[in-house]
Amino acid sequence: MKSSAAAMLLQYSHLNMNIKMTIRQKLLLLASIAIVGMFLSLWVQYRSYSVQAHVQEVRAVGTLSLAAHELQKERGLTTMAPHGRDDHGLAQQKLNTDAALIRLAGAGIDLNGFRESLARLRTSVTEKTINPLAARDAYSNLLHRVINEMDRLNREPSAHIPMSDISSHAHLIATKEYLGQMRATLSYWIEHKHDNDLALKGLARLNILHVEELRKFRLDASPELTDFLDAQFSGHEVENALGTVQQVVSSGNLPQGLSSSEWWLMATVAIDRLKAVEDHSLQLIEKQVEKELDHLQTAMFFGVIVTVVSGLAILALALSATFSLLRALDKVLANIEHITTNMDFQNRIHADSPEEIGRISKSFNELLDIAERLLNEKDYLANTDMLTGTHNRLRFSQVLHEEAERKRRNKTPMALIMFDIDHFKSVNDTFGHNIGDEVLKSMAKLVAGEIRATDLFCRWGGEEFVLLLRDHDCDAAITLAEKLRILIESSDFPAIGKMTCSFGVTVWEQDDTETSFMARADKALYDSKRDGRNRVCFERMRTSTPLDCVACGQ
Ligand code: GH3
Ligand code: MG
Ligand code: MG
Repeated sequence: MKSSAAAMLLQYSHLNMNIKMTIRQKLLLLASIAIVGMFLSLWVQYRSYSVQAHVQEVRAVGTLSLAAHELQKERGLTTMAPHGRDDHGLAQQKLNTDAALIRLAGAGIDLNGFRESLARLRTSVTEKTINPLAARDAYSNLLHRVINEMDRLNREPSAHIPMSDISSHAHLIATKEYLGQMRATLSYWIEHKHDNDLALKGLARLNILHVEELRKFRLDASPELTDFLDAQFSGHEVENALGTVQQVVSSGNLPQGLSSSEWWLMATVAIDRLKAVEDHSLQLIEKQVEKELDHLQTAMFFGVIVTVVSGLAILALALSATFSLLRALDKVLANIEHITTNMDFQNRIHADSPEEIGRISKSFNELLDIAERLLNEKDYLANTDMLTGTHNRLRFSQVLHEEAERKRRNKTPMALIMFDIDHFKSVNDTFGHNIGDEVLKSMAKLVAGEIRATDLFCRWGGEEFVLLLRDHDCDAAITLAEKLRILIESSDFPAIGKMTCSFGVTVWEQDDTETSFMARADKALYDSKRDGRNRVCFERMRTSTPLDCVACGQ
């Protein structure tokens, strides 16, 4: 499994290598992918953190709502119940309130000393050291601490739920709370029927607060939520409850024939409707978080895909860059090794890959160009006679040595012509050394124009030249020597006029050495000088078999 994945990666990196990219481009791409990958991964982390915070806020809003609701119920049962105290119901409610407060702490909300204050209040109520009105106010104060906490959440700068959603929820709870207080106040008033002024003032104040909170709720809430509220409030019971409060506040009198329990029931319906709106508001906030979570999951899914793909791409690019670099380096090194081992300075490096390697190869090839030029120059200087431009004695000796070796293996003929300018000393003496040099150059040029590319023409020294004729037998060599002699004799040399040369000719024979071969040509040239100059003399090995040569008759 692993190896097949590695094989796929390798295959990909080879494919990738075929897309012509330089190492620099590959590294740039690599860095870009790494940066994008890192950015995406950070973004996904951030999103996940922000939604976690979001979920926590929803939990906080929910638990605060619940705590407020349970406290309201406890307050009602403790202080304002119109049907007398229900001890069993109150005990159960206290448990519910405690459970809501535990959930509040679980959601990370710490209302400093809240539970201790509640415990003290409960004790005071049980021991009857506090009157019902004071107890109601104490409960209301605790309730406001809960509502204020929601307000604080709303003002939190890092809040993730839209501010208006929390704010409308807080106003909703406050609306419900003031309605609850109105229910209690009016119920108490109907039952005890004393201190009209104080009760009226209290009710009027609560009504103002209730209306104000409702107004604020409508300002902040989404249209869906206000529509829901309107639907909840459209019933007869709610209109009756709110209408009753309005009527009492405006007339200053209690409604005729309304018992406290009738009023309590009426107000309770309105409160329950508000509770339904509160629950709906929480649902909406939760839905929004679910939507956020869905988005996050999609983002995380794509984030993971992008991270995996970019990781693979980074790996493939790194492999590809390394492979192309190593392959190119390998090729260049093999080329260099071949060139240096075989001293093959005419060879060149062919690098078709990364630009850096291409530049190294180009520079190395330039060095090879220089080396080849220098070697050629050195060869030319070492093998050429500087005055006449013909090969020199050193070159002649090398070639003769190679040819002598070859002659041991094959029997093809080879001849040597040695010639010397006649009375050249007198040219120098009469016309000067410079003119003598010009004669040497003209002579070399004249002869070079008459020979084949395979013939080796050298200045042997002074005014003496040699011609090594590969594949020439005795006849051909003597014929060529005679031809050259006539050509020189018939040529005009500037400032001097006529010049002649004496020629000595010999052919390579079976027992020859380089020295014996040269010595015979020299002997033939000597004979030519001795016999009167401007002639061709031939010399052969004394012990040899007949040559069948027409020109020399041997
Ligand atoms: P022979 O016919 O017997 O060959 O007589 P020669 O005068 O040609 O022979 P000799 O050996 O007496 O003189 C050769 C002269 O060639 C002597 C030398 O000054 C001259 N010489 C040798 N090399 C050069 C050269 O490079 N330039 C010039 N101008 N003269 C040279
Ligand atoms: Mg001479
Ligand atoms: Mg000479």
